[in-house]
Amino acid sequence: MDTIDKIEEVNRNIAINDFYLMVRREGPISKEYENHLEKVTSELRKEREKLLAEYTPSIVRRNLLREYSYVPYCGNIDCMKSPRTIFTDGQFKCHTCGWESSFPKEFISAWKQVHGSVNISKEISVRY
Ligand SMILES: [Zn+2]
Repeated sequence: MDTIDKIEEVNRNIAINDFYLMVRREGPISKEYENHLEKVTSELRKEREKLLAEYTPSIVRRNLLREYSYVPYCGNIDCMKSPRTIFTDGQFKCHTCGWESSFPKEFISAWKQVHGSVNISKEISVRY
């Protein structure tokens, strides 16, 4: 199992635990189990930071691999608005000035991999 596989697994487990914690008021989950989940999830977040640091020194890349909703800002310093980019055709593109990121293909496929399996409803139904 390589680092990206491990990050994918950790992301998935954090997402599942966060989901359980989010819906805890609506379902029968004991205070004890809630505390357990919070502790486990906190450990998973620490583990993920280690894995991310092992994988890349780039903060932008770590943010991308950590947060599914994270997208970089436009990288053109002359851009009038410097908005967040939109993932289009394999890179992050600025829809104001046309700037696009130049992540290697391997990184883009790693990014897709670590978030691709975070399908909470599917995971939850498998667990029940
Ligand atoms: Zn721009």
